[in-house]
Amino acid sequence: MMELLLLLLPVAAASGWMAAKRSDCKGKQLYAERNPDYYKGLNFLLNEQPDKAIDVFVQMLEVDSDTVETHLALGNLFRRRGEVDRAIRIHQNLIARPTLKSDHRAQALLELGQDYMRAGLYDRAESLFQELIELNLHREQALRNLLVIYEREKEWSKSLDTAIRLEAITGEQLQNQRAHYYCELAEQAHAVADTAVASEYLKQAYACDKKSVRAAILLGEVDRAKGNHKAAIKIFKKIAENNPAYLPIVLPSLRNCYTDTNAELKFKQYLFKLYAENKGLVEAVTLTQIIRDDEGHRSAVAFLKEYLTDHLSLDGLHHLVALNLNDESMMSSEMLLLVRRLLDKLLEESPLYKCDTCGFNAKAMHWQCPSCNNWSSIKPVQISV
Ligand SMILES: [Zn+2]
Repeated sequence: MMELLLLLLPVAAASGWMAAKRSDCKGKQLYAERNPDYYKGLNFLLNEQPDKAIDVFVQMLEVDSDTVETHLALGNLFRRRGEVDRAIRIHQNLIARPTLKSDHRAQALLELGQDYMRAGLYDRAESLFQELIELNLHREQALRNLLVIYEREKEWSKSLDTAIRLEAITGEQLQNQRAHYYCELAEQAHAVADTAVASEYLKQAYACDKKSVRAAILLGEVDRAKGNHKAAIKIFKKIAENNPAYLPIVLPSLRNCYTDTNAELKFKQYLFKLYAENKGLVEAVTLTQIIRDDEGHRSAVAFLKEYLTDHLSLDGLHHLVALNLNDESMMSSEMLLLVRRLLDKLLEESPLYKCDTCGFNAKAMHWQCPSCNNWSSIKPVQISV
């Protein structure tokens, strides 16, 4: 609750000061005298009674430009603390006041919309943001919030419209995002086997981002669904070569294309070529599966073990252990050596000491944390599963 007060006290002081200044020239009463409820509310906050404080603020007869900022700040703070119901109460109360100036009303609408978002009440939030856009007030923020809502609700057509409007008023470039929205729409069409519509959306995705890997992957899948395996293979190979980072996603799709057309041998040849060039884990693991099918378990294990000797990784070892799980005789000393090498590497990279308070990682023991200055907050780390 201290943060509430830290925030509100300066506002209170400023309000009092402004009113006092005005009273000098216009002979008005001091703010606090004019509005003792204000301090009553602060007092409740001081005593950790936020609901009573809100009652006082909500029942205050007068909300003028001095106090409205405080109401907004208080509501905002409640929202940030996750106390959304309280934030909503404060903002709804503001909006209900007929004397509220239009710019303050717009600000309160924006805040209330964010409260609703935080509470997961997307329909209500959406209509408030739309109202603001129609009023031509806080348009940019309203559009940004709407975009978040539409993405969460997977309303891709609305996301597209909103992104275009946002680009128009901010000059921002959102092509990458828009390409993904088209890909989402294409995925939906592909899921119900509507390849024509899916292809149309993918064209649009490419128009936004001609390097879109996602659009390329989807185009390959749509081609495969159409029975156009040759085109699909060409696309998947191109991705594998130009964007090897996506190989784990593309390789199974490529394999499916070859399996569909009974051309496993061609897939194997291509996989060997990729493996020879990259020595990547995905290629090695896929090859291990093929070797197991063709030559049996022992050959597969031998192949993967040899691969890991030069290219040790956590993922790779995980595959090797899984391959050996039902075979005790396979738990060889070579395997233990690999496990030990990997554990050494992991321990070397992991922190030995960690601060309970701020999360600071240390290599040596400190009785006082160098980051947050707390005493006895650093303890040795124990890794457990
Ligand atoms: Zn610390």
